[in-house]
Amino acid sequence: MEFDTIAAISTPMGEGAIAIVRLSGKEAISIADRIFRGVGGKRLKDVPSHTIHYGHIIDPTNDQTIEEVMVSVMKAPKTFTREDVVEINCHGGLVSVNQVLQLVLTHGARLAEPGEFTKRAFLNGRIDLSQAEAVIDLIRAKTDRAMHVALSQMEGRLSKMIRHLRQTILETLAHVEVNIDYPEYDDVEEMTHQLLLEKATYVREQIERLLQTAQQGKILREGLATAIIGRPNVGKSSLLNNLVHENKAIVTDIPGTTRDVIEEYVNVRGVPLKLIDTAGIRETEDIVERIGVERSKQVVKAADLILLVLNYNEPLTEEDEQLFATVEGKETIVIVNKTDLPQKIEMERVQGLAAGRPVITTSLLEEKGIDELEEAIARLFFTRGVEAGDLTYVSNSRHIALLHQAKQAIEEAITAIEAFVPIDIVQIDLTRAWELLGEIIGDTVHESLIDQLFSQFCLGK
Ligand code: GDP
Ligand code: ZN
Repeated sequence: MEFDTIAAISTPMGEGAIAIVRLSGKEAISIADRIFRGVGGKRLKDVPSHTIHYGHIIDPTNDQTIEEVMVSVMKAPKTFTREDVVEINCHGGLVSVNQVLQLVLTHGARLAEPGEFTKRAFLNGRIDLSQAEAVIDLIRAKTDRAMHVALSQMEGRLSKMIRHLRQTILETLAHVEVNIDYPEYDDVEEMTHQLLLEKATYVREQIERLLQTAQQGKILREGLATAIIGRPNVGKSSLLNNLVHENKAIVTDIPGTTRDVIEEYVNVRGVPLKLIDTAGIRETEDIVERIGVERSKQVVKAADLILLVLNYNEPLTEEDEQLFATVEGKETIVIVNKTDLPQKIEMERVQGLAAGRPVITTSLLEEKGIDELEEAIARLFFTRGVEAGDLTYVSNSRHIALLHQAKQAIEEAITAIEAFVPIDIVQIDLTRAWELLGEIIGDTVHESLIDQLFSQFCLGK
């Protein structure tokens, strides 16, 4: 396939950050040559692939120097888009980078649409669809671990698994064909039935395994929605401040992706917590916190994890007990704060109300018990089922939806096989599962779906 040459600023600018104007396409190098002045009249079209060159960007209409730059030249096909790629690294600010982009655009390039670089990589066969989507996730990844998931997906782990399952279905379908073509062989039919059941069951199990990782994957990507609740004055604001200040706001820092500093996310030992309703807690006291239990009910509903704070220095109140009632069925950690003060709470009663959930004692004033709390959060998240490391997490909601549909198709196939339904009916279900799995890696998608997906990208990716 051949496309026009596109360009965009590919790194968002922070203070002192280097910004890149990236070009991709057949004309990328010749367009860059029109505005680049290298040392000793060097021309980019003559340089070897994958080399970097110092020089200046000049406006050829008036010979004015726009920017001092390093230019990388990467020739097709060993590039991200499989096209010629030029990256102009500018260290100046917003103004000069924009000037460079404008120059590139007036000299033959077109402004890239959001995600268009990645779309090209896909269309040129460099990456498959799930890998392309992983790039979106990478841009949005909230912690190192989340980034790791996105990266391994990009490396094609999920794709590999999906390909394997599709291949299994395909081979099974081929066997079925044999049976339809040669119905006179009795033993072939016998075997087909047995084999069908075996293979379909295997595929269902594998899809289920992938789906089991989905919940964790989603949380890694989107953050564990966490609410801090408790009576006024127990230490909610102190806890919030501690979590925010002890755990650096989350920063994504890999080349070519957005540097994301998001205040309401904190990274607790690899678990991204999305602290919800923090405004209510920060909004110092009284008016908001008076609403108490009623507001807590709403916050609890929206949360994946509740941090319920009690006061070590006061007997349990009826309100405390009501709060326990609101967290029924929710992942909760109970925090008994102010252990530096004399004990007035009955810990046995607290343990009883906690009903097996972790109870952590803290003195936020003296910064005690915080490690234990963080440990409890990490344990809750990582030891239940999925270990970090070599698992393929499914974290993209489109993939999850497709896996669910594929699983349903497989289950229908299994029901049909078990009921000795004519084999060509089974074939329809299996084919459908095969197609649905194919949509995850983009083998059976339509152009419109592709466009829709790529439009979610940030500009310049
Ligand atoms: P909130 O109303 O639940 O948000 O509670 P705050 O975090 O605003 O804390 C209420 C008061 O308790 C403040 O004066 C805090 O300094 C104090 N406080 C918080 N944690 C502790 C603690 O561990 N020990 C003691 N002695 N005081 C604390
Ligand atoms: Zn408060």
